[in-house]
Amino acid sequence: MKVTQATFEVSAVKPAQYPKDVLPEIALAGRSNVGKSSLINCLIERKNLARTSSKPGKTQTINFYRINDQFYFADVPGYGFARVSKSVREAWGKMMETYFTERKTLKAVIQVVDLRHPPTADDQTMYQFLKYHQLPVIVVATKADKIARGKWQKHLKIVKETLELQPEDPLILFSAETRQGKEELWRVIEAKLEI
Ligand code: GDP
Repeated sequence: MKVTQATFEVSAVKPAQYPKDVLPEIALAGRSNVGKSSLINCLIERKNLARTSSKPGKTQTINFYRINDQFYFADVPGYGFARVSKSVREAWGKMMETYFTERKTLKAVIQVVDLRHPPTADDQTMYQFLKYHQLPVIVVATKADKIARGKWQKHLKIVKETLELQPEDPLILFSAETRQGKEELWRVIEAKLEI
């Protein structure tokens, strides 16, 4: 995918605020600080369109980015940040439930996990939630540059087994640092978008 245009469209907390033109959409989900913003910036080749935040868990809005006037990336707020209050967690849960159940244009969800560690209980819950809603998931295991090449397969296997990854859902090894996996991920995204 050649990204010629990538613009921040809107932040939303409820459906009335989502973009209204009927472009297909790919959502991105992941634990706070997992590397989701870095992944988006790497894909669209912008240094800082999706803000890499030093305060994980702060952004509680769904941020829509319009790409090539062809589709949207919907960046949903990170989960599993221990220090947010119960009321913030509940609001997050409601917002996610609404988005994932009501967004008709949603084609797939990229779930970002850390290749270095087994997926957390929150990662498992997120994956199960997406599967419960029958959404196609693309699991991206990022920060591959942080572990030795010889250990990649072992770590991928742990990700697969811990999430109980379904055979229809691809698992992609990735690094925002080295751009490893970028082309493969774009191919999978294009297939899901049918563009
Ligand atoms: P987010 O909260 O999920 O959006 O995470 P960020 O994209 O802000 O990344 C969190 C931290 O991990 C930052 O310090 C990034 O520089 C770092 N990071 C993200 N992706 C990678 C990667 O692929 N490799 C390495 N080495 N560091 C990464």
